[in-house]
Amino acid sequence: MATWQEFIHQNEDRDGVRFSWNVLPASRLEATRMVVPVSCLYTPLKERPDLPPILYDPIICTRGNCRAILNPLCQVDFATKAWICNFCFQRNAFPPHYAGISEQHQPAEIIPQFSTIEYTLQKQTTGPLVFLLVVDTCLDEEDLNALKESLQMSLSLMPPNALIGLITFGKMVNIHELGCEGISKSYVFRGNKDISAKQLQDMLGLGSSARAQPAQQQGRGPMAPQQQEVHNRFLQPVHKCDMDLTDLLGELQTDPWPVAADKRPFRSTGAALSVAISLLECCYPNTGARIMLFVGGPCTQVRIFQMLNKHFWNRFLFIKKNVTQKLHFINSFINKI
Ligand SMILES: [Zn+2]
Repeated sequence: MATWQEFIHQNEDRDGVRFSWNVLPASRLEATRMVVPVSCLYTPLKERPDLPPILYDPIICTRGNCRAILNPLCQVDFATKAWICNFCFQRNAFPPHYAGISEQHQPAEIIPQFSTIEYTLQKQTTGPLVFLLVVDTCLDEEDLNALKESLQMSLSLMPPNALIGLITFGKMVNIHELGCEGISKSYVFRGNKDISAKQLQDMLGLGSSARAQPAQQQGRGPMAPQQQEVHNRFLQPVHKCDMDLTDLLGELQTDPWPVAADKRPFRSTGAALSVAISLLECCYPNTGARIMLFVGGPCTQVRIFQMLNKHFWNRFLFIKKNVTQKLHFINSFINKI
């Protein structure tokens, strides 16, 4: 018989979980006396070769504010085909396709050894992976070259069907068109202007085709190979545009805009992020995507930030009177993004 400590260690090894306490307080008084709060360290993506593949959706507690999942600690009544949620004590009926369960024939999710379980969801739709690179060009030569090399290298590590796009920024924000043979094309936006998704859609001509196609795919389950071809000029599959993108990255130069000796370079991080979000909203609405921002310093190029740069360090009274209001604008801008 294992000791308590061995039992805890076994569980930690098996599930990749460690709690600050292995016994929970039984009363409110005990809870208030705890010096260290109850907390949990969890290892995401822990490798578990012993887990069986579960190719169905989890059973969820029917109480609206609970939504816990059927697990080995739930009490199960095999006679009436019901289970009691161990969080809220709601009694839930098993769905019809669990009619065949019995004490000898139990589903994996209530067997004690499967305290961790991985479901492969059947209803969930999976779209393509989308990576939008947002690259700051206000870097010195050495840093920019290192970044270019790392990005070029990372292209070979991405899944070939993932969609990728490139936005660069300095004083201006450039959205690069991919797949233009022989020449490189980009759309340039002023870094001190905020562009909404609607404006961007009109300017780039991202009309109905770019929007409608992803919308049609919703609810069809995993995408068939021909559906993955859906893309536009700014977001293309890695396998189609990796050569173009490698060339484009290779040609990137530091921002050519002149900067006074006592000033920081104009870095339109806010506008670039805003454009990136608008682009994704136009092309892949309601779809998960990653915006990867590579930045070498603080944002200095939003009208509000320019004001701050000019006055921030000089006059405390100015800051006290006027900047509070400007900070409010900055806050709302960032919240909007
Ligand atoms: Zn519940």
